[in-house]
Amino acid sequence: MQAKAHKNSSGWNSVLFELRDSYLRYVKDWEEKIGSFIEFDIDRLSGAAESDVSHKEGPLAGVPFGVKDNFAVESFNITCGSKILEGVASPYTATSVKKLQDAGAVVVGKTNLDAFGMGSSTDNSAVKVTNNPWDLMRVAGGSSGGSAAAVAAGLVPFALGSDTGGSVRQPASFCGVYGLKPTYGVVSRYGLTAYASSLDVVGVISRTVEMAKTVFNTMKGQDIKDNTSVKHPGSSNSGKVKKIGILNIADGPLSEDVERSYLLSRGRLEKLGYETVNIEVPSFEYVVPVYYTIATAEASANLARFNGLRYGYRSKNGNGPGELMQASRDEGFGDEVKLRILLGTYVLRSGFQDQFYHKAQKIRTAIRNEFDRIFESVDLIMMPVFPTAAFKHGSADLDQFQQKVADLYTCTANLTGLPALAVPSSLEKGLPVGVQFTAPAFEEDRLFNIAEVLEAEFPSPKLSGTKDWS
Ligand code: GLN
Repeated sequence: MQAKAHKNSSGWNSVLFELRDSYLRYVKDWEEKIGSFIEFDIDRLSGAAESDVSHKEGPLAGVPFGVKDNFAVESFNITCGSKILEGVASPYTATSVKKLQDAGAVVVGKTNLDAFGMGSSTDNSAVKVTNNPWDLMRVAGGSSGGSAAAVAAGLVPFALGSDTGGSVRQPASFCGVYGLKPTYGVVSRYGLTAYASSLDVVGVISRTVEMAKTVFNTMKGQDIKDNTSVKHPGSSNSGKVKKIGILNIADGPLSEDVERSYLLSRGRLEKLGYETVNIEVPSFEYVVPVYYTIATAEASANLARFNGLRYGYRSKNGNGPGELMQASRDEGFGDEVKLRILLGTYVLRSGFQDQFYHKAQKIRTAIRNEFDRIFESVDLIMMPVFPTAAFKHGSADLDQFQQKVADLYTCTANLTGLPALAVPSSLEKGLPVGVQFTAPAFEEDRLFNIAEVLEAEFPSPKLSGTKDWS
């Protein structure tokens, strides 16, 4: 293939016009170290896509991207990181992905994840291990760890993730890139495998703010195939940011590194002339129990469809449909997924719904009201993303229970439905640490604006030797 123009009309590097062999070599070298993709194949797509793409003038013409392997993309398989979907091909393409393809972007592969999005490390994947490109002994975060690692290593300029409790923002923070969780409902979930339907959103992981913005604006919009989707009304104040509420972290569980990085970000905002005020969110102590009550309840219902009878993994054991289903689920699901199905079934069991699920829903509303009240006097809220930087594989640094407790800063935006963006803040002992901004509903523009100012004034360190797509 010949090297033609390297930039499309919007100035983005486009892989289909590049020397493909050197790109593939680059991907292979990194992939051996980080294991971010479950499937990678530009050949299968590029033949058809190349002629299409070369005629496209869209802002994303020829731009390659990765898609977390819990989205349906025609001509790729969909594993959701679980053995139970082994060998299942996607019969159709998710609306979010389709819109990006219509704008000229090209799916080059499917990225690794914690099975069904359940986890914070990508170690709960039954398919492979993903390493953090900044330190291969450490996790890339999760559950969209493959997407974040691929973007940080420069394999793609952006990748899609899903965010139910932080799965886009936490791995973005661990890998030193941007992670956007949009307002609930503004991007169609059609074709995204449901984990917890009232919390799930489609998110973007990217190396630059501009790319996150372009991808989000391309994907957003109401979709007849997702009846929870809504039309984005646009920002109420052109995305202007003057006053920022800074979450008090005094009693929080932050590591020293994350605390230092957080204070650094606060200092930068003040230096840039933003007005900052301390804020408290009293309901924070309830966020994790409420999240895990709602998420597991919804997951137990959503995952009932994987029964080994219709598609996917089917056990060789078991007589009759009942036993076959039981054996297939037992052998096909991993431990973390089973734990959550059991928890979800427990909180939903007959006679106990008021005690758990309904109570959690009431507290969820109270948390949202608290945020609405805070937003009466500030334009944005700044808070940490995760209490630690990337931890080591296994449970030595943070066991599975501690990982759940550590979701407090991210799962808040899912419970409230509000948009949030993880922004790289600093390198601490060689590891990236991010900071998170949350905005009122539909105010993604405020998130982009603050991130653009910070990006211009304090460019985040890029991993040396990685491909720069901008
Ligand atoms: N750590 C969260 C969980 O395990 C993240 C989930 C997500 O956003 N998919 O539930």
